[in-house]
Amino acid sequence: MTRILIIEDEEPMAEAIKYSLEKDGLEAEVATDGGAGWRLFEEGGYDLVILDLMLPVIDGLEICRRVRQAGDTPVLILTAKDTELDRVLGLEMGADDYVTKPFSMRELVARVKAILRRASRTLQEFDRDVLEAGDVSIDPERHEVVVRGAVVDLPPVEYRLLELFLKKSGKLLARDYLISAGWRGEFYGQNKNLDVHIRRLREKVEEDPARPRRIVTVRGLGYRYEPCA
Ligand code: CA
Repeated sequence: MTRILIIEDEEPMAEAIKYSLEKDGLEAEVATDGGAGWRLFEEGGYDLVILDLMLPVIDGLEICRRVRQAGDTPVLILTAKDTELDRVLGLEMGADDYVTKPFSMRELVARVKAILRRASRTLQEFDRDVLEAGDVSIDPERHEVVVRGAVVDLPPVEYRLLELFLKKSGKLLARDYLISAGWRGEFYGQNKNLDVHIRRLREKVEEDPARPRRIVTVRGLGYRYEPCA
């Protein structure tokens, strides 16, 4: 089910958008200020954010910046002011599209669907190939990790780390890079101890976790995945 987050402080407008989306078979939730909107977004699971620019508590540009930082969720900006400034800022902040108020619900739903189509196409192209290095493989489409013929369950951070290792196997991955990519979209209350997660990951992919041959430490710099250890 496609879920859309609407962050818009004019409640009748927000409800009208929700109604139109739901009539079209999409699921939508409303937040009427930036703080509430960001809290909902952080809980995760949204495929698109419809975002008003002028919002109480946290403004739309800041929300847009945070959503971009957190990952690939598309953002459709609603703006009351038809000024170049808003357009430029909205798109420079990484928004996928914008609609100027007043707009028709039909136009809005059409834009939403166009963005969702683009996003799912990108995802398919990106995820088509199984990543494989040595005796470890990831099928991104099925979110399945196989180690020496056995399916292994990985929590999100370890999954993302392994995905990076396989995509860039044989290359040194700096600690900062692994942390920012591994913890994408999870800002608060998360254990960002990279070494702890690497240790857990090694327990799952290494034949002898005490003497890792796949995920090797590059002292002081980061880690490297050895495809043919
Ligand atoms: Ca507003």
